[in-house]
Amino acid sequence: MRFQTKTIHAGVDKDSAFNSVITPLYQTSTFRFEEIGVTKGYDYTRTSNPTRRALEENLSALEGGFGASAVATGMAAITTTLHLFKSGDHIICTHDCYGGTERLLRTYRDLFGIQISFVDMSDLSTVETAITSHTRALWIETPSNPLLNILDIEALSSIAHRHGALSIVDNTFLSPYFQRPFELGADLIVHSTTKYLNGHSDVVGGAVISRTRELAERIQWLTNCLGQGASPFDCWLVLRGIKTLAPRMKEHERNAHAVAEYLARHPHVARVFYPGLSSHPQHELARRQQRGFGGMVSFEVRGSLRDVYHILRSTRVFALAESLGGVESLIEHPASMSHASMDPEARERAGINERVIRLSVGTEDVNDLIEDLERALRFSSITKEESTLQTTPVLS
Ligand SMILES: *Cc1c(COP(=O)(O)O)cnc(C)c1O
Repeated sequence: MRFQTKTIHAGVDKDSAFNSVITPLYQTSTFRFEEIGVTKGYDYTRTSNPTRRALEENLSALEGGFGASAVATGMAAITTTLHLFKSGDHIICTHDCYGGTERLLRTYRDLFGIQISFVDMSDLSTVETAITSHTRALWIETPSNPLLNILDIEALSSIAHRHGALSIVDNTFLSPYFQRPFELGADLIVHSTTKYLNGHSDVVGGAVISRTRELAERIQWLTNCLGQGASPFDCWLVLRGIKTLAPRMKEHERNAHAVAEYLARHPHVARVFYPGLSSHPQHELARRQQRGFGGMVSFEVRGSLRDVYHILRSTRVFALAESLGGVESLIEHPASMSHASMDPEARERAGINERVIRLSVGTEDVNDLIEDLERALRFSSITKEESTLQTTPVLS
């Protein structure tokens, strides 16, 4: 089966009782034994559940892994994965990772003595230098959040493997539709299914997908042990969302590209961060390792912090909200919202300044999105001539 067919069918057609086309929702905490010691494959939903199992098979097929565990949130996926390591182990993480990942890694360092180095992973020699005899994993997130920097998964995975460490990739931003880290050498993939995989902003969920049987079994064991498994209903919703992953991702990308090009021409935008623009410093790497550029666009405002707040308050189609990856467009301010939990110094080092705005470009009509931004970018400090800039529809 090809990718788009797998999104719809993998793990799904298994209702031998009534031949339902859709995976049934097994909203149950427990399962009746046939006989002492004999079940129909399930005994308790923390351990496993048929609806969750269907989603896990689906996700594993999409990423091309051996197995998957569907968990309660993206952070639960990261938490579960971190339990592969013990006190004294060393993890190298990209310095501009998701704010919650940075906070969790710092917490594990302080609570459990796991050693963490946050480095600029786009510089491979910096990564090599950071490696110690205790390094057990490279934590890779690409494209990064919110600046859309690209990391070379293949090069980093080979560095990890040369030192006996795991290559772990957070693939939330592109989804397996645009990026397949296992094909580039990764060992584990984590997802916040809250984002593109579910795509409808009505679930928080996560997943860990493993390349090997050994890792898959360990992650499944940890998921049960830690009590991280996703609820059957959430799994059912994510399975439904994934059926439209392919057409949604195409539309997100088409719109994001148009929005990025529009912003790049705007006098009140200092910089646009979008890997699909040829001006992006790692555009070539993105072309090589990704099948597309995704739906996230960030930009730096040329103006005061007051102007930044004005933009954030003025959009009507783009909702001021955290999260991303849903069909509805969102706008947010990383410094005070998604990345507020990040250590301010680390944030500064990662280049996330207060004038950066992040957009999750949805699948609405792109002309409405551009008109919305046009209105918001007309802030008071600009000249009359500029304020009469007309919107040019980019796509019909
Ligand atoms: C949102 C996000 C997470 C955390 O996921 P939750 O579902 O919010 O717990 C992790 N990594 C990335 C890249 C994210 O965008």
